[in-house]
Amino acid sequence: MIENKHKPDKLTGVKGMNDILPCDVGLWRFLENAIKSILHAYGYRNIRTPILEYTSLFRRSIGEVTDIVTKEMYSFVDSLNGQQLTMRPENTAAVVRAAIEHNLLYDGPKRLWYIGPMFRHERPQRGRYRQFHQVGVEALGFAGPDVDAEIILMCQRLWSDLGLTGIRLELNSLGHKHERAAHRDQLITYLEKYIELLDNDSKHRLYTNPLRVLDTKNPALQDIAANAPKIIDFLGEESLGHFKGVQSLLSANNVSFTINPRLVRGLDYYNMTVFEWVTDRLGAQGSVGGGGRYDPLIKQLGGKPALACGWALGIERILELLREDNPVPSDDGCDVYIVYQGDVAHSRAFVMAEQLRDTGLDVVLHCSTDNTSVSLRSQMRFADVSGAMYAVIIGDDEVRQDEVSIKLLRSDRTITNADRIQQRVPTKCLAEFLTNLIAAKTKKY
Ligand code: AMP
Repeated sequence: MIENKHKPDKLTGVKGMNDILPCDVGLWRFLENAIKSILHAYGYRNIRTPILEYTSLFRRSIGEVTDIVTKEMYSFVDSLNGQQLTMRPENTAAVVRAAIEHNLLYDGPKRLWYIGPMFRHERPQRGRYRQFHQVGVEALGFAGPDVDAEIILMCQRLWSDLGLTGIRLELNSLGHKHERAAHRDQLITYLEKYIELLDNDSKHRLYTNPLRVLDTKNPALQDIAANAPKIIDFLGEESLGHFKGVQSLLSANNVSFTINPRLVRGLDYYNMTVFEWVTDRLGAQGSVGGGGRYDPLIKQLGGKPALACGWALGIERILELLREDNPVPSDDGCDVYIVYQGDVAHSRAFVMAEQLRDTGLDVVLHCSTDNTSVSLRSQMRFADVSGAMYAVIIGDDEVRQDEVSIKLLRSDRTITNADRIQQRVPTKCLAEFLTNLIAAKTKKY
């Protein structure tokens, strides 16, 4: 047998799928908490659907000729039963599927939200990953235009609570199906005149999904797209009325927007109001989030007809904006790290850690890395790296006096100078003493 002298391949994560390390989690948690608090303020309730769905769900909702369905889905056949499954590339379809399956609209419309990983086999680059995270809302059973404006206002509130600037709102209306059909005919006729100039993607979309030619990023096609027939010119009175309704509610709430007649969104299920939040701050990936109405979808997936709208925002893209704008919040170190010297102190520390946790404090007890005892000074280095706010020290003298020493390790909360000095307190007073000190947890999120 020939021995393989090569080292085994280094194991790495899957391309385009990122680890979120503890040092990054502080910012993720900050954003997630901000999002949740806003969604709850508008009465939206959390729904959690599985990552795997039957492939047919996405084919029937997102559309057979969209990029997601033709090129980007992680689909496979379950080897145990031959079923065609797909890792969700987005979550509207699954939320609608769940709402139908569990008859969620039986007693009236529902405001729902979700957060979690989505999967698309795209070319990874800055702000574009194969596993990425979206937060989304779905308002099921509402006719709008008030609810269209409501979901947009929620995003606006998020940007302002997070202090994010440079995010613009673009709006359009795709009208009803018959209006889109009339526009489509004229659009094809118009694009056919330039067929020689179209790139391969646009030629391919010309007869399958001509609306998508309008949002081409190819600089050579910008003039052609800009002068193409606009869907808004094909809207009847009702669609225009709806669109104007959204706009006046937004204006009344000081939300600025621009109408972008070329905004079509990449998924087939949209109609009427569509919108996108865009920024110039993320290079090529300028879309922070988007959404719109998808009135036919519930019926199309087999449910009792009900009107609906929603949006999805890309968490990684918002995080990138946040990282640029704000100092990164710390990675949520615990409240207390306990260090000790000797066996008696060790068993006392163990009991003390449990008692402090009983009072609601987050406590790490120093544990040996190699079964040898380590000096208090070395343990204090571990305490420092842990990110804890306070160290509790139990040395020989503390054991004799039935006391503990407390030392402040961080200074990023409002503290008095007296707090900074190492203090001795009787063991029995420790919990109350620490709880009072740490009551300064006054962060908004
Ligand atoms: P979509 O579902 O395509 O309308 O996307 C909604 C939002 O999700 C986008 O505006 C992005 O912020 C985010 N997003 C979509 N695809 C990706 C991706 N591959 N990587 C990171 N974020 C994405």
